[in-house]
Amino acid sequence: MKNIYSNIYSFNKKVLKKTIKSLNRGNLVGLPTETVYGLAGNAYSKKAVKGIYKLKRRPKKNPLIVHYYDIAQASKDVILNKNFFKLHKKFCPGPITFVLKKTKSSKIVSSATSNLNTVAIRFPNHKIIKTILKLLDFPLAMPSANLSSKLSPVNAVDVFENFKKNLKIIIDGGQSKIGIESTVVDLTKKLKILRPGIIDSEEIKKVLKVNLSKKGSKIKSPGMLKKHYSPGIPIILGRKPKNSSHAYIVFGKKFKNIYNYFNLSKKADLKEAASNLYKTMRRIKKKGFKKIFVAKIPNFGPGVAINDRLTRASR
Ligand code: AMP
Ligand code: MG
Repeated sequence: MKNIYSNIYSFNKKVLKKTIKSLNRGNLVGLPTETVYGLAGNAYSKKAVKGIYKLKRRPKKNPLIVHYYDIAQASKDVILNKNFFKLHKKFCPGPITFVLKKTKSSKIVSSATSNLNTVAIRFPNHKIIKTILKLLDFPLAMPSANLSSKLSPVNAVDVFENFKKNLKIIIDGGQSKIGIESTVVDLTKKLKILRPGIIDSEEIKKVLKVNLSKKGSKIKSPGMLKKHYSPGIPIILGRKPKNSSHAYIVFGKKFKNIYNYFNLSKKADLKEAASNLYKTMRRIKKKGFKKIFVAKIPNFGPGVAINDRLTRASR
C-alpha cells in the first residue's frame, strides 16, 4: 500500500540536508516547535513569505513571527532593549514572542510584518528547529502550520491534514509539549501582552517589576482576530451538553469518566490542560460530535490563555 504520509519525515542527517536545501530555495517546510507546529520559510525571501500567506490563506494584514537561533542573529533585524534582555534571560529559548522595532538595515521582507515598522521575534526551544536555525543564514518566518482561523497543529499528522501534499516536507518532532501558541508581548512602547500564553502576565511582571498596560493595541494581528482557533463545530462555553451528540470538555477530578466527557486535566493542572486543548478538540471533531460544551476553567496562569483560545473559537 502507498504511504499516504510520504511527505512526513523522521529527523536525520539526510532529511536535515534536504530541509536546508529546500529553505535556501525559498520553499516551505512544516517544522515542530515546543508550542505548536510551524509553517516555515526564509523571512528574507519574498517568494517564501508570499508562499506562507497563500498556503495558509492568511489575511495579509496579519504579521508573521520571525524565529531566530540567538540574539546575535536577531540584533541585525530588530532594536533590542532592556526589557527584552531581561525577559530573554529568564524565558529563552522558549514560548514567548517579543514585538520590537525593526532596524533600518533589516532584511525582513515587509510583507512578513504586514508593512509595520515592528517585528515579532521568537527563539523556539525544540532540538530540531534549533539545529535548523543554527545552520541557516536567515531567520524563519513561521506562523502555525494550519489554515487561517483553524486549530493549530500539535503533531506532524495534524500538519499533513491541513496541507496534504502541498507541503513537500513535514518533519516529525513528536507531540508539541506546550500545545498552545507563544505568549506575545509588545516591548515597543507601553508594555502589553498581545496574546496570552503559558508564560503568564504575573511571571512577566515579576521579571520586569512593572505593570502591564491594559489599553487596546491598534496593531492588527492574527492572535487578536475575533474568530480563531476553531475546530469547525460550534463551541458553547460554561454550559453542560444537552444530549449525547454533544461533547463536554471538563477540568478537574470532580468529573466522571463518561464517554462524551473529555477531561483536559484530571489533576487540575492548567499547564497540562493547555497542552491537551487542541488535541482534545481535534479528537472530539474526529469522533463525530456535533457540538462542544465547555465547563468553567479557572482564569489564572495558563488558564487565561486557555480561556482566550476557547472564547475566540466559540465566536
Ligand atoms: P501566529 O504566527 O499565527 O502564531 O500568530 C502571530 C502572532 O504574532 C499574533 O498573535 C500577533 O499578536 C503577533 N505579531 C506578529 N507580528 C506582530 C507585530 N509586528 N506587531 C504586533 N503583533 C505581532
Ligand atoms: Mg496561528
